[in-house]
Amino acid sequence: METTRQWNTAEVNLDKKYGPQINGEMVEPVNGYINAVNASTGEVLAQIGRGGKEDIDKAVGAARAAFPAWAETPIEERSMLLNKIADALDENQERLKLIESMDTGRAIHEFDLDYKLAINQFRYFAGAILTHYEGESRPVDNGYLITKKEPLGVCAQIIPWNVPMIMASFKLAPALAAGNTLVLKPAEDACISVLEFGKIISEILPNGVVNMVPGIGDEAGQALIDHPDIDKLAFTGSVPVGRLVGKTAGERLLPVTLELGGKAPHIVFPDVDIDTAVENATLGYTFFNGESCILGTRLLVHDDIYDEFTEKLIERAKQIKIGPPTDRSTRLASLINEKQGEKVLNYFDIAREEGAKILYGGNRVTVPGHEHGYFIEPTIIEAEPNMRIAQEEIFGPAATITRWNNVEEVIKMANDVEYGLAAGIMTENMENAFVVANKLEAGSVWINSYFNFQTGAPFGGYKNSGVGREYSKQALNEYSQLKTIVAAYKRPPLGTFL
Ligand code: NAP
Ligand code: MG
Repeated sequence: METTRQWNTAEVNLDKKYGPQINGEMVEPVNGYINAVNASTGEVLAQIGRGGKEDIDKAVGAARAAFPAWAETPIEERSMLLNKIADALDENQERLKLIESMDTGRAIHEFDLDYKLAINQFRYFAGAILTHYEGESRPVDNGYLITKKEPLGVCAQIIPWNVPMIMASFKLAPALAAGNTLVLKPAEDACISVLEFGKIISEILPNGVVNMVPGIGDEAGQALIDHPDIDKLAFTGSVPVGRLVGKTAGERLLPVTLELGGKAPHIVFPDVDIDTAVENATLGYTFFNGESCILGTRLLVHDDIYDEFTEKLIERAKQIKIGPPTDRSTRLASLINEKQGEKVLNYFDIAREEGAKILYGGNRVTVPGHEHGYFIEPTIIEAEPNMRIAQEEIFGPAATITRWNNVEEVIKMANDVEYGLAAGIMTENMENAFVVANKLEAGSVWINSYFNFQTGAPFGGYKNSGVGREYSKQALNEYSQLKTIVAAYKRPPLGTFL
């Protein structure tokens, strides 16, 4: 059912205003609107609701009211509805990709991957839910034990701006499949595609099952996690806000999943084909404009090939086409906003100050007609592994590169970072690959092919990269609770208490 139609920016026809979507309809936000802008041109794309406490309260109320019927909807029907959502996302994907490219500033060709993952999420959970309830029921001494999986209730879900549709699908699909209702707060900086998707979903699901409240983190986001009638918190974003969400969950004793930052090592052994390894490394640090938690931004390259690898990595970086986000031939486009752009450029200053060497890049580039945007050159920085530039998340198209000599040393280097979301290894020797993979502190390890996302593979972080797993059957457990029922056919005889 895939469409091939390519949309023109002028034809997208956005709504002028996107208010909160509550109980199946778009409503007026209590606190008015804020502008949603095109990341590279600064043009106002639409206005989005500035969600606040009252909007959140209504949305949670709608989700609560919808919960009993949705929880009791047969799994075959929930599965069918999730497939319908996948079909609708598939049919509308070209338009939504264009909207998302304008909203985030990312190169449009990247969204082919984003939407493939997002559509697959709904299809995967449509299938997975049908086997989720294969339980551990068994006969016991005097009767029967039943282990039952039940939904949690109303879920609060908060997502970041970098990959909006991937994030929305990672949150929505497992929660809905498991029988929960929800309130989603998309990110202020890029939420229009998600709110358009919300309109599509409202045609498919019963009212109140999915509610969306756009707005600012401190306002709509905070009101959502603080709402007393929430049963689960699910958050993707930065470590500081993740801690805040985790703390709230702790105080309220709510189940929580957190997908946070990353600073992934990408280890290159000396036996690789260098050209192929350079291509894979380049994909690994530049995709998503460098604005992703899973990027392989700490290149650890064996001494024997370091010089040749580095030279070729620089040559490859020079060829990367920086251009307008919605041009299909663009490979690197605009960062989300000035704040992020300045943060990335500031990291390059930090790198220089701490004695790291910028081997290539490090500058902002101007793209005619898109002067508002922060287009940053792919940047390669020779650094010691303990420097801030090699330890902290930059969230821009930049990688550090560091030499290593022995395997134990590189494992230590790779693990010596607060994060543990992803890692990459490149080698022809599978024994080396698995010895290292087993010792890496990371939730996902990709050998010889970065971002090798496979449907159903658990995704989530070790250490400060988070708590819990998404993208896999494990996510259904994160959105379920277990009940054990033991039914006895023999009653305890009178006098048992004595
Ligand atoms: P962020 O500042 O933590 O924001 C994430 C979301 O939380 C946004 O919707 C934000 O709202 C909201 N928020 C902010 N303050 C809040 C509060 N007090 N209460 C409730 N919600 C609040 O992160 P970001 O800068 O947008 O995103 C980048 C970070 O996300 C990076 O660290 C990156 O590594 C991480 N990330 C992780 C994954 C993963 O799967 N592990 C995926 C993508 C991104 P507003 O932005 O609208 O104000
Ligand atoms: Mg935007």
